[in-house]
Amino acid sequence: MNLRLSVSQPTSMYQGKWLTIKNRAMENRISPTKFIASLSKMRQRSKILLIHFSFFVICISKIYSQQIFKPVPDSLATLYKYDLEKNFFKSEAEFRKYLNNFNNRIVSYKRNLNKQATVQNLEELIQELSQLEYDFRKMDLYLFLQYATNTTNQSALVLEDSIYDVMLTQRSMYRNYIRAVPHKTLNSVLALPTMKPYAYYVNGIINNRIHELSPSETDLLKSFNYLKNNRYYDNLINSIATDIIYSATDTFDLFNDMKAWQNHPDESVRAEGEQKLYKAYSTVASPLGYQYIQMIKGLNAFSVAKKYKNLIQENCDKLSLYDTTLQTIFRGIEANSSFAKKHSRQHKNDLKRYSITETTEILLNSFQELGNDYYSQARQLLNPRNGRLDIVGGKNRMGMQGVASVYPIDVSIFYANSYEGYFIDLMLISHEAGHAVQASLMNENKVSLLNGSGPGYFTESFGKFNELLVSYYLYENAKDSIEQNFYLSKYIERLFVLFGSAEEAAIEYNLLQGIIKENITKPSDLDSITFLIGSKYRDYTKTPEQKVFWMRLETNFKAPMHNINDMVASLLAIRYFQQFLNDKKSFSAKYNRFLKNGYTDSPSNLLRDFMEININDVNFCPDVIEFIKSELLKLNK
Ligand SMILES: [Zn+2]
Repeated sequence: MNLRLSVSQPTSMYQGKWLTIKNRAMENRISPTKFIASLSKMRQRSKILLIHFSFFVICISKIYSQQIFKPVPDSLATLYKYDLEKNFFKSEAEFRKYLNNFNNRIVSYKRNLNKQATVQNLEELIQELSQLEYDFRKMDLYLFLQYATNTTNQSALVLEDSIYDVMLTQRSMYRNYIRAVPHKTLNSVLALPTMKPYAYYVNGIINNRIHELSPSETDLLKSFNYLKNNRYYDNLINSIATDIIYSATDTFDLFNDMKAWQNHPDESVRAEGEQKLYKAYSTVASPLGYQYIQMIKGLNAFSVAKKYKNLIQENCDKLSLYDTTLQTIFRGIEANSSFAKKHSRQHKNDLKRYSITETTEILLNSFQELGNDYYSQARQLLNPRNGRLDIVGGKNRMGMQGVASVYPIDVSIFYANSYEGYFIDLMLISHEAGHAVQASLMNENKVSLLNGSGPGYFTESFGKFNELLVSYYLYENAKDSIEQNFYLSKYIERLFVLFGSAEEAAIEYNLLQGIIKENITKPSDLDSITFLIGSKYRDYTKTPEQKVFWMRLETNFKAPMHNINDMVASLLAIRYFQQFLNDKKSFSAKYNRFLKNGYTDSPSNLLRDFMEININDVNFCPDVIEFIKSELLKLNK
């Protein structure tokens, strides 16, 4: 119940940002090892939190219902736990055998790396690497899930780290090998029909050669790796003293009962909570600010060493986003900020809660509109008898609110710290299903692990699309006008998530720029930039304590530039949804083709070829905003 620390808790005022840090998904920008280690650290507080857990349950039941609501019915509780034996390895011995086999494969792979680069050898090598990635991801996920559901299992983490290090070395050796192959030989290999799916991956290695550090440079910079360590964030946030929020009938702990007060029907309770949260955060603004500035400077130095202009350019490159595209998006959204300010407070809360059985039914009904392939994968995923969901709260569970596997391995799977049946939980499950089903579709289509991951905004857009789909489904199928109004407001709220994510992205972007250009040198500079930029999107004058909003953007510290990913994902999700409403049948056909294809080309080419979207078009963002405006008219009818 450590919601205070959950990475995917919605930080946006629009309550709509479900950030999911996938296992290893951010490894280009953050060391997941460190990230997971920081989670284990924060779990040390769990002794105190257990007391709050029972308190939380009592509060909720008192407020919302005289009868006891069960988010997961008792009879099903044991099914909503991972069945790792069924989905991964039947026994520890079988896992060890698999690991052993992986190690043997590495020996033979290394042997091949020492052979001459013939067409046949190159073909074999890439297939071997693809298989190694597959084995690695499967074991990695297995170990990670063991840890997520039992954070005292440190040995799973240690083993996971060591396999990860082994895999990093194999990738690096492969890159060096490929770069030494003569062009002519490489081109004749890539012309083979069997090699076609790997062309994008191999060409990426060639094109990025100037950014690779030499072994001696890597060695030299090793002692500065601590700058990438974000553990200071959890340590400082954990040290903040808590506070109490009062409602007419109850009291809530500021951090441990966050979901309860954030979803409280009384607006004054929510406002009091927000105000006290900012006050609490500001007590550690100074140490956090100095460490953040230091971290960004360090990361920027690494980018420069890798021959990028700066940290921003390195990340834009990796995301295949032009800096000009980003600027156009910021300008487009900013130009509509007054409109957003006017309508963003349409926040409605409802007493209704949804058992996991109801949620599953709602989701499957919504997914039917996406065609058979999608529906059948979702049905298998959500069937509790398949043991692919782990959502029942308890002790020693990882603090992240939602995590889903995104790689095309045997089974996709997802985890929620604790499913409590709020509308926001319904959205969380919809969102995570978006990640997991995409992974299943890729797996069924036998996508190589080398093409199994791309920029975070892709996979995030699939999760966000599902939030729109499900909330709209509820609106369309409401049983009376009261329910219809409620779900319409929820759907509109999901659309407005764009403005929240743009605000966060703009704040982060300007903080990074400021630190890189050395205009920002101290924590109070972070406050003033946040106030200045944030005010373009929201009224900060009434609650000036919001100037420390930068502190609540957890990914600033754990995955720099993720807020930008998130904003782009929001735009894409809305664009897909617009297409969906225009023509459901043709949309679902192309969307499924897109999802199952994997990342065989640059993100902008994939979007153009599969979804007819040009992300670099100046009209892309304004068109999305026009759509939001037209949907808003439904609310005023
Ligand atoms: Zn997500």
